Amino acid sequence: MATMTVQRLHELFEENPGKDILSWNGACHDCGDTMEVSATPMEDGIHISGGSVYEPAPQNFFLKCDPCFQKDSALRNFQKCEVYSRVVGYLRPVSQWNDAKQEEFRDRKLFDASIA
Ligand SMILES: [Zn+2]
Repeated sequence: MATMTVQRLHELFEENPGKDILSWNGACHDCGDTMEVSATPMEDGIHISGGSVYEPAPQNFFLKCDPCFQKDSALRNFQKCEVYSRVVGYLRPVSQWNDAKQEEFRDRKLFDASIA
């Protein structure tokens, strides 16, 4: 997952005419520290300071501070993971199972059936 592209930044400036700076306030997705990222168009391109901005879905922004970006530039764990498993002979999302079946799913144990 890459950070926001230069093209997308230009689009955002076009969507917000008259704005000479774009900024995002919030918490770093990884460490939770409060942070602000700003993008300023200059003659030599758009200057970004304060960290990184991710937009995995339109208008759904996530921020990462520079130390966290240095550690891992990928945006992880930002959406729910749908787990499918077998229930009464069918593969269905576990989130759609009834409470009793979900409890039974949590009791299941993984084992390695390969023969060495
Ligand atoms: Zn951070």
